[in-house]
Amino acid sequence: MDVLTLGSQRLIHLDMKGAPPRLSYLDKLFPLLRDWGATGLLIEWEDTFPYTDDLSLLGSRSEHNESIGGFYTIEEVNQIQDLATINSLSVIPLIQTFGHLEFLLKHSKWRSLREVENYPSSMCPSHSDSLPTIRKIITQIIKNHPNIQYIHIGADEVWHMGLCPSCERRVQTCKNGKADLFLEHIMNVAQFIKDHYPNLKIIIWDDMLRNIDTAVLQEYNLGTLVEPMVWHYNPMETFSLGPSLWDKYSNVFPNIWIGTAFKGATGCTQIVPVHRHHISNHETWLAELNSNVNKIQNFRGCAFTGWSRYDHYALLCELLPCALPSLALCLKVWLNGGYNTNLLKSVSKMLGYINVPLSLEPPIRPTPIPTELLFPGWQILVGMEWFLNTKYRYKSIVESDQLDAWFNSSQIRKNYTNPMQIERFIGIFTDLLFEVSSVEKYLRVQLDLVFNTNVGDEFIDSRITPIKEHIKQLKSDCELQVSRGVQPYPSVNRVTSYPS
Ligand SMILES: [Zn+2]
Repeated sequence: MDVLTLGSQRLIHLDMKGAPPRLSYLDKLFPLLRDWGATGLLIEWEDTFPYTDDLSLLGSRSEHNESIGGFYTIEEVNQIQDLATINSLSVIPLIQTFGHLEFLLKHSKWRSLREVENYPSSMCPSHSDSLPTIRKIITQIIKNHPNIQYIHIGADEVWHMGLCPSCERRVQTCKNGKADLFLEHIMNVAQFIKDHYPNLKIIIWDDMLRNIDTAVLQEYNLGTLVEPMVWHYNPMETFSLGPSLWDKYSNVFPNIWIGTAFKGATGCTQIVPVHRHHISNHETWLAELNSNVNKIQNFRGCAFTGWSRYDHYALLCELLPCALPSLALCLKVWLNGGYNTNLLKSVSKMLGYINVPLSLEPPIRPTPIPTELLFPGWQILVGMEWFLNTKYRYKSIVESDQLDAWFNSSQIRKNYTNPMQIERFIGIFTDLLFEVSSVEKYLRVQLDLVFNTNVGDEFIDSRITPIKEHIKQLKSDCELQVSRGVQPYPSVNRVTSYPS
């Protein structure tokens, strides 16, 4: 830890989006986070929060269980905060207020608030109901977080701005175009919070500010209202914030946060984190801060982000238990001021990687799987490694030369197959089907112990069932071919001569 990061906050981002852990799991997790060096939690409730009154439709439970409210009850939201307090972890709620509002804008009730009618991501800041809706969401969130000092208002990746007729007019008539559109909305949201909760400090993702001129940011006095969280999730090779970012921010913002990533940033279908990537991201951030120490007045701290999905509609990527080794490594790298092999040894020992090493790179599959680890939910990681090994075996078989040579789609269509080969394939598919079904059963049990059952449903439905169905189809095709016996090649399709 260097002079800048010493004494700063270390927030762990809990992205509840579609993968809310059960309280019994958080009860085991929070003491570990504290012991590993975390000081707080950045909780992104999204649709898992139990909104009430005319917002109650927003809760995820209303979609799946046809009752009203989010995955968590108000009592559970309170219990999660109590658990955090017991473990000396502060809580900062994160609520999107401009872009990434799919969980709001997907509902027909709020469809009219979309900036682009067909796209549910960004809100129209000019619609007369937009700000009142955001105010209601913020009010309900703050009301149920009585002890917070900060609130994060998101506002990253506002993909669509200035596109509806009203916003287009505003962009054309405003001095600073889209920058005014963005900043006016942010100022409205931030001012509402300041007016009603004057002691709350406001954090915002910084990416939408990166291309706005310093003079414009100063004109809005943005630094007096919000504190930017500068995020970058790439490793050293592709890490770049641009040459003038710190000069700009040093002239506008007295307080700075940063956002790193320990999961959910290396691929939208990733199942187990690529540890090397995340270690490098943290090392590079340490170097970046070190190089710009004189341009940062007050460094608030770092949010270790862990994304569950790339957006509300996307497939689940790395689940929290699978990413605890990555989180432990990243926290230790941060606290240690860099990575070294002793750090890897001590984290490996702490997490129970004794006979199977904790790999920094994606392993060559099939890879050995640990049998006993020392962190909550390790069984899910073991199940995922098992699934990835099985998927590798499945791909090796379905993409094999043997299948191409003796059981391709043309041969199946023409009933032209050799039973000697096909009988062998039936045995292979039977074994594979048994293995896929075994992984499915194991993961079903383990996922349901940690998460809402929707997580197990989604994982199995989207990742395992397609493989299982494909193997079943192949096996059934094999059995049909064998039952038909040897067929002569259909002579009508045989090429006997070539045109000269
Ligand atoms: Zn608009």
